[in-house]
Amino acid sequence: MCTVCGAKCHLNVSDVEHWYSTRHPGLSVGSIVPDKCPDCSRDISPGDDVVIRNQTSSEHAPADGTSGTVEAALSSADSGSIYIVRLATGEERPFTRRELRRR
Ligand SMILES: [Zn+2]
Repeated sequence: MCTVCGAKCHLNVSDVEHWYSTRHPGLSVGSIVPDKCPDCSRDISPGDDVVIRNQTSSEHAPADGTSGTVEAALSSADSGSIYIVRLATGEERPFTRRELRRR
């Protein structure tokens, strides 16, 4: 299960028992694991084109599927990042990682 967006992905590995024993030796084979989905494991940087998803932050926020471009990333080693995105409408808004998918 993705630790960022909550998506549940099926493993696509040829040897499941080996994968669990090397990646998650404390877990039993087939159990849920903390990981990042393909969308969340890609870094987002200023200049990247992104799409809004899982939008939860406010009533005036753009709909899921709205596209935009990352203007800036405000990062903290302890707390993660906030991304300032310029939307196709020209509006600029902050988003969390779980609200963005790279195009
Ligand atoms: Zn994810």
